[in-house]
Amino acid sequence: MAKPCSCCGEIISTATEYELDFSGTLTILFHPRCYAIWNEERKRMTDERRRDRPSQASGA
Ligand SMILES: [Zn+2]
Repeated sequence: MAKPCSCCGEIISTATEYELDFSGTLTILFHPRCYAIWNEERKRMTDERRRDRPSQASGA
């Protein structure tokens, strides 16, 4: 049973797919390459959020 990739929308027909389960409610599927892209995006967003405050703030 083929399902569309949550990243590019193409049907995943390859043997390899990534299935992520969020809190047991939302399941998303990725091609391996799409998972890599999505993961990088996610990581970058997390990093940006972490770098929210300028490091200069505590300088004296
Ligand atoms: Zn894809």
